[in-house]
Amino acid sequence: SSDRFAGITQPRHRPGLRVPVQIGQRRKRIVVTGGAGFVGSHLVDKLIARGDDVIVIDNFFTGRKENVVRHFGNPRFELVRHDVVEPILLEVDQIYHLACPASPVHYKYNPIKTIISFFNLLQLGNFRFGDVSQVAEIYKTNVMGTLNMLGLAKRIGARFLLTSTSEVYGDPLEHPQKETYWGNVNPIGVRSCYDEGKRTAETLAMDYHRGADVEVRIARIFNTYGPRMCLDDGRVVSNFVAQAIRKQPLTVYGDGKQTRSFQYVSDLVDGLVALMEGEHVGPFNLGNPGEFTMLELAEVVKETIDPSATIEFKPNTADDPHKRKPDISKAKELLNWEPKISLREGLPRMVSDFRNRILNENEGKGL
Ligand code: NAD
Ligand code: UDP
Ligand code: UDP
Repeated sequence: SSDRFAGITQPRHRPGLRVPVQIGQRRKRIVVTGGAGFVGSHLVDKLIARGDDVIVIDNFFTGRKENVVRHFGNPRFELVRHDVVEPILLEVDQIYHLACPASPVHYKYNPIKTIISFFNLLQLGNFRFGDVSQVAEIYKTNVMGTLNMLGLAKRIGARFLLTSTSEVYGDPLEHPQKETYWGNVNPIGVRSCYDEGKRTAETLAMDYHRGADVEVRIARIFNTYGPRMCLDDGRVVSNFVAQAIRKQPLTVYGDGKQTRSFQYVSDLVDGLVALMEGEHVGPFNLGNPGEFTMLELAEVVKETIDPSATIEFKPNTADDPHKRKPDISKAKELLNWEPKISLREGLPRMVSDFRNRILNENEGKGL
């Protein structure tokens, strides 16, 4: 049906104007779980601008109402406070499943909420999925949340997109990482609650795809940054940017020679939408192949915010991946997607948002 409307000019979106529904396309009803979070809220902006009806499901574990407040009062937007470990009934066309306590500080301090270990998974059979009161404390976000959203997708015939992570590759022995790499994850390490939780979520998604014909899409997201990232969530970009603004030393863990590849949030959101709208299940790596050591990142942050910022070395966490860089050939070829914004272009775009929030924090403290 998409080529039926090929060539019809799409109305241009002009900020401030109500956006008409695209010609030739029924407007979609879309759920975004975790839509009050960092990535989710940028995705919601794009979907609303495109003219879709969007329902955000979020329990505000790490997300904030402020991230979506601009859409309050828009009849095409709905915000539901709900924990995805509990079932929910909705009628929609697409489900973007982002809900996950994703940042290191949160998952290191609240591992139980992030993981169901394989041991617990084996025990799932002892519980009835429908009996929420009995299981709510046990089936947690990555597994129960994903299972519920897949059950929802199955019942209503919706397309389901899982936001998995590059962490499924663990401390990779293949570099750069292709989607065919099975990974090198320590199943009993401090960060395995997140890695194994996402690996299990991928497994569930593929099982629902194969066994119940759910239209599934899997994205493996590499380190992403931008405005609305949680302050103080322990991720390296938010830490360095907040530290530079607060005139504190940038904390480099270990020798700072470990590498990551940093993607600006709008590139990720474009990739997620291309994946959802495309015909391929994936998994697809969505990341920026530009690879930096943490020391190089610190330099870019210094150049961008405060050249006089200093660096303080701290011990690294256990099982920290030594390097990470996506091979994105698959997404380039099949989704016609690649990131556009380099680290040096992207970092300045998050600074004013961080400055404002840090300022508000200080005002709140009477500083
Ligand atoms: P985030 O913490 O800003 O957003 C996650 C959102 O999920 C938050 O709004 C949180 O309140 C909500 N949430 C958590 N548990 C929930 C639950 N049980 N029920 C309902 N809502 C719940 O994180 P983010 O960076 O926006 O990440 C979004 C998704 O992308 C996550 O699934 C994450 O694992 C994945 N991802 C992100 C990155 C990255 O670098 N940002 C990298 C890899 C994967
Ligand atoms: N589920 C949901 N909303 C729905 C349909 C299902 O939250 O509209 C949940 C359901 O409660 C269950 C999970 O999704 O916990 C898996 O559903 P499925 O039908 O696949 O499994 P079953 O309920 O048959 O075990
Ligand atoms: N890191 C750092 N200083 C910080 C926070 C993190 O040097 O203040 C390092 C961390 O040890 C890791 C890298 O930065 O090697 C990326 O960490 P992050 O938690 O942002 O992402 P992930 O490890 O999940 O890729």
